[in-house]
Amino acid sequence: MDRTYKNNFTRGIVLSATLGALAFTGTYTGAFARAFEGAVQVAGRSTFSAVSSARADEVNLYSSRQPFLMKPLLAAFTEETGIKVNMVYLKKGMLERLKSEGRNSPADLILVSDIGNLHNHDKAGLLQPVTSPNLSANIPAQYRHPSGNWFGLTVRARVIYASKTRLKAGEVTTYEDLADPRMKGRVCIRSGKHVYNISLLASIVVAKGEAGATAWAKGLKANLARRPQGNDRAQVRAVFEGECDVAVGNTYYMGKMATNKKDPIQKEWAKSVRIIFPNQAGRGTHVNVSGAAVTKSAKNKTNAVRLIEFLSDDAAQKIYAEQNFEYPVKAGVALHPLVASWGRFKADKAYLSKIANKRTTATKLVDKVAFNN
Ligand code: FE
Repeated sequence: MDRTYKNNFTRGIVLSATLGALAFTGTYTGAFARAFEGAVQVAGRSTFSAVSSARADEVNLYSSRQPFLMKPLLAAFTEETGIKVNMVYLKKGMLERLKSEGRNSPADLILVSDIGNLHNHDKAGLLQPVTSPNLSANIPAQYRHPSGNWFGLTVRARVIYASKTRLKAGEVTTYEDLADPRMKGRVCIRSGKHVYNISLLASIVVAKGEAGATAWAKGLKANLARRPQGNDRAQVRAVFEGECDVAVGNTYYMGKMATNKKDPIQKEWAKSVRIIFPNQAGRGTHVNVSGAAVTKSAKNKTNAVRLIEFLSDDAAQKIYAEQNFEYPVKAGVALHPLVASWGRFKADKAYLSKIANKRTTATKLVDKVAFNN
């Protein structure tokens, strides 16, 4: 038996034993214990599947939110509660992974951006309802699932970035204005299929019905300066470079561009635009959330709920606001000064769960009007 094979063989046994619901309690001795510890470490590099059972002092998190943001939040949680958080950062593929892991998934909770992602996990039957007076108190009803299947933790607005020099004050004040023929050739936006734009379009379906939203999407498409492409920041860059006069993007990117040390040209992009909060005289600006949910497979549900409660409370809300230029979901938490400088705005009051239910309609509509072509 060659060495590599032998190692893999040993590891295989240990991991299957673990998957057979053997929790590591530290009482094993001898060679088996050493092999077991080795396996835990190996597994720990990419997953924590070897410690998937319930532990009073741990909780397992799948996060598509970036480590730079989550690290200080999770450290503060552990400091306060003594509960260790094992986080796996999944930029992509979380839904598929949870589906394939099924009931054996080690994940107790997930953290993702956008109601689209929360809703898709919910629709796939991967989440479970949570009742928590703390969460009900901290998070306005508009920003959480009615049965507690998911909870918004930070708020972002989908706004209009307007050229300071080429767009006159008052020329565009609503999403509807972006679809008006007078804006022909002046608008930039990313793919209509992107999760942020599907949610925006779903909010328009809620506000104006399917026919109204179709007309809007057609009008917007007719006004585009170029085919939908790039991310939100790339649209602001296109305004800076004179390719378009207005763009659509999420608010926190303004903060990320304006303070960007790695890529200082982004500061110039930010300087070339001002933020317009659309529909202030009407239904308000479309807002979305990043949020959390407890998985159906959770073995550490109590700790998972505790972590979500912690993230919805003052200390964590302050960290979110400072680190990522988002709006706290909890009332009374201070904004980052830069975020405050963009001014106060009225948010669309439509419940995000209601908007999420129109996402399928919105997705079909993007195809129907061939928005990206
Ligand atoms: Fe984003």
